[in-house]
Amino acid sequence: MKRRDLIKGLTLLPIAGGALAGTAQAAVNSAGAAIAKRDLYKELGVRTFINGRGTITFMTGSLMHDEVLDTIRDSSKVFCMIDELQDKVGAKIAELTHAEAATVTSGAFSALMLGMAGVLTGLDAKKAAMLPHLEGTGMKTEVIMQKGHDIGYNQALTNCGVKIIQVDGVEELERTISDKTALMHFLNANADNGKIGHEEWIRLARKHNIPTMVDMAADVPPVENLWKFNDMGYDLVCCSGGKAIRGPQSSGILMGKKDLIAAARLSASPRSNTIGRGHKVNKEEILGLYVALERFIKVGDKEWKMWEDQIATIDKAVNGLQGVTTRVFVPPFANHVPTIEVKWDPAVVKLTTQQMQLNLRNGNPSIEINPGRNSVQIATFVMVPGEEKIVANRLKEELAKAVV
Ligand SMILES: *Cc1c(COP(=O)(O)O)cnc(C)c1O
Repeated sequence: MKRRDLIKGLTLLPIAGGALAGTAQAAVNSAGAAIAKRDLYKELGVRTFINGRGTITFMTGSLMHDEVLDTIRDSSKVFCMIDELQDKVGAKIAELTHAEAATVTSGAFSALMLGMAGVLTGLDAKKAAMLPHLEGTGMKTEVIMQKGHDIGYNQALTNCGVKIIQVDGVEELERTISDKTALMHFLNANADNGKIGHEEWIRLARKHNIPTMVDMAADVPPVENLWKFNDMGYDLVCCSGGKAIRGPQSSGILMGKKDLIAAARLSASPRSNTIGRGHKVNKEEILGLYVALERFIKVGDKEWKMWEDQIATIDKAVNGLQGVTTRVFVPPFANHVPTIEVKWDPAVVKLTTQQMQLNLRNGNPSIEINPGRNSVQIATFVMVPGEEKIVANRLKEELAKAVV
């Protein structure tokens, strides 16, 4: 808790303020009584760690900045109408991302599902109540995507009752399009894994009057990807709020054409007889994401240099150790940030990747890295600055210790 907030709380106290003032360790509950700050991870015995992997959902994604946390706490103290908040935040997000409209969802998965629902139902609330049952409703039933784009997250689409049809190349696409085709979906992360590129995909869809959607959940940075696909003409764009944007882990953005966003919201909470009712986002998440997005755009790619320096710190610590080589690179999609691969010759450094992973995990502090083949990969962009030095030292220690 920040000192100014602590003091704000203390002014409500008739007495005892003096004893507490200045103790950052103390917190003040709503009744004004001092309570000891709890470390719930410790209390529950939950391991915490330095995250050298990136924004991974099973590792709790990312860390929110203080202004996001302040927003969440401050906005939680009053009531408002959730649809009014979605309208107004959505308009601001749309402005920031060059979209006609936008809405905050509970993750990119939810953006995919609600966007799909909107495409199927249009502005008909009765149809929204029928999902995921499509038969006999007059709604279309198929989504087309390239073979290499059909990943697990597309469960979000099939949740709406549609069938996915995979195609390979333009000819097969043209043959597959029919009056059942509801949507042509594109996965940015696998753009290289398909014969048809982003723009051609839109062109082909327009020829047949079919809406397009792109999943770019994990594909910022670069920051300009936030508007690139809106500018390009995708009808719907799905992005995570809890990855590099560092909004609430449970947030996401659905951006796109005005009518489709309005249609998607017919299947979203707070409307109760919809498939999206379980994808609720609260006011704190909506505003937290908004502030995180503003910050993310304002900072732009300025943090890039810091990440490069952090990677250089790790590189310097281990490069030159016996049997060790390094490679600094930027993955083309998802976690598109400076990354280092530290590789060792198993004839010189007697260590399996799994042993390395466990040693780092079981050390103090615990560290998570991305395992490779006699190698590990590390990104620093979700670390707390300074943690890269700990990681550099621990890596060096483990590598040096294992030299035969
Ligand atoms: C992470 C991810 C999702 C899901 O995003 P959430 O915000 O966790 O719901 C969907 N698609 C892709 C490609 C992703 O990387």
